[in-house]
Amino acid sequence: MNFEDIVQLDEKYVMRTYRREPVVLVRGEGALVWDIEGRRYIDCVAGIAVNIVGHCHPYVVEAIKKQVEKLIHISNLYYNELQPVLAMELSKRSGMDKFFFCNSGTEAVEASLKLARKKSGKRDIIAARGSFHGRTMGSLSVTSTEKYRKPFEPLIPGVKWVDYNDAEAIRKAIDKDTAAVILEPVQGEGGVNVPSKDYLKEVREICDEKDILLIFDEVQTGFGRIGDWFASLVFDVKPDIMAMAKGMAGGFPMGAIGAVEEVANAFEPGNHASTFGGNPLACAASLATIRAIEDGDLLRKCRENGAYFIERLHEIQSDGIKEVRGLGMLIGVEMKGSCTEIVTKMREKGVLVNCIQERVIRLAPPLVITREQIDEVVEKFASVCP
Ligand SMILES: *Cc1c(COP(=O)(O)O)cnc(C)c1O
Repeated sequence: MNFEDIVQLDEKYVMRTYRREPVVLVRGEGALVWDIEGRRYIDCVAGIAVNIVGHCHPYVVEAIKKQVEKLIHISNLYYNELQPVLAMELSKRSGMDKFFFCNSGTEAVEASLKLARKKSGKRDIIAARGSFHGRTMGSLSVTSTEKYRKPFEPLIPGVKWVDYNDAEAIRKAIDKDTAAVILEPVQGEGGVNVPSKDYLKEVREICDEKDILLIFDEVQTGFGRIGDWFASLVFDVKPDIMAMAKGMAGGFPMGAIGAVEEVANAFEPGNHASTFGGNPLACAASLATIRAIEDGDLLRKCRENGAYFIERLHEIQSDGIKEVRGLGMLIGVEMKGSCTEIVTKMREKGVLVNCIQERVIRLAPPLVITREQIDEVVEKFASVCP
């Protein structure tokens, strides 16, 4: 099949929930992908901040190959030999004590909300404007974007909205029915919004004072994306519940929540479950991803190359750029006008980027991206900036 055949089939048989770029990707390696016509791209989308260790990292490929021939799926009615090992490795790196495994970010948020209600015996959740937590009914209820929410109301009741990066607003919003506060440590889909240094610390103090649970949605910030294993470490603030997914298994679908012991123990058998969650194949992919991050020294690379990337972007002389911001390899370039044209022009020049909130170009490449590749992205970006 060629490009046109695939697009035609897709239009006929796949529901129109996505506006796709006119490109069929067939192969990837490191920070590069190739399309069906053999064109090469530097991938600054990385499957929406998923391909942390690069496309088809040899560790991940090897681990999946080995596991797929041995055992793919058994359900959680039985132990599998990898799930507890992965939970232990996650515990060492996140500071959370116990884990529940699922298959995506939205599921991790659902599990977080359910655990918060179960632990607190209370109903309401405080969420921030500009948030994105997923598309299922629970996670959509704490996602702020009006056009995602509106067609599907009524959503779950009892969500209170506060401005992001305003800790006092959270104090004011808390009342006797508040179960938890859910926050992205850096807002991803909301436009790569990095809070001030003390925001999360202040929120933690307020939650402690008022005895409210704090949920960090680290689906996008986790697994090295912002320069340490989790944003919790970058900001030195420990949540009670942490949701993770995206980068967690090197591109294989997987999600999880971690929680501190006394919160985690609120879940009893029957409270929550997932048929596929934490299956041997996903666990093997995640363990390999963790090793790849470590052996590749990717946390350090993320910090150093991310800072370099941001610095180079700052150097671009363009009236079209409003602001460059970010942390590690989660970078946003806010334009003064719409950024859809830039996305197209960059693709034509061989760089994949995407546009969030209509005006923000998000750059979230694999952490293995090289300086030369960063330079190429910056030069091409400068050449297409208005
Ligand atoms: C992507 C994302 C989600 C949803 O993840 P899915 O795997 O698409 O369900 C939730 N929270 C954050 C912060 C995200 O970036």
